[in-house]
Amino acid sequence: MNKIVLASNNTHKVIEFKKILAKENIELIPQSDLGIPEIPETGLTFLENSILKARNASLIANLPAIADDSGIEVDALAGRPGIFSARYAGEQCDDEENNKLLLKELSGVPEERRTARYRCVIVYLKSHNHPTPKVFDSSWDGYIANKKVGENGFGYDPLFYLPEFKMTAAELTEEQKNSISHRGKALLAFKRELSKITADLNSETLK
Ligand code: IMP
Repeated sequence: MNKIVLASNNTHKVIEFKKILAKENIELIPQSDLGIPEIPETGLTFLENSILKARNASLIANLPAIADDSGIEVDALAGRPGIFSARYAGEQCDDEENNKLLLKELSGVPEERRTARYRCVIVYLKSHNHPTPKVFDSSWDGYIANKKVGENGFGYDPLFYLPEFKMTAAELTEEQKNSISHRGKALLAFKRELSKITADLNSETLK
């Protein structure tokens, strides 16, 4: 079975990746299992950060790597927090503080102007110095609610309102969320490429 290192230490993400790729013929190894630390996300885009993370994990593990970078873009805030979503309220902040700050920044903004989207860019790198990473870029549209609702998910999910469900992302089941979310869709696109990816890795082994 081909091994691929997953360049994330975020437990929620590791679970989502493993669940969606469960029946595939690959062994997905979280980088923390190999003692690989997270690196500073110094890129200016989701794509740059995702490539940085995948390169680092692939270099240290000497394995193919998959990484994602994701966040929420709020239109009334000109796309912020974007790549800074995890550290929106400060370097050491938690989800609670991020959600509080988002509600504060949007106070007084009417419903129709509270549009937002989650974005996720997944990168697959065959080796740390491979010149053509495979890129899977997906988004998920919604609105920022006026208060938190729901207990599932993580991050901004209790504030991410989906008019088609009349619920927030934190009220969806894990299965519902995975089938429509930014990360779910990007992972599905990756999954569709997996047969080509594993065939390529197997042909390398035979050389
Ligand atoms: P990353 O680990 O650098 O990709 O940071 C992603 C950050 O974006 C998370 O810490 C959350 O704040 C936010 N985020 C990304 N995807 C989701 C999601 O599916 N639900 C809620 N928040 C998310």
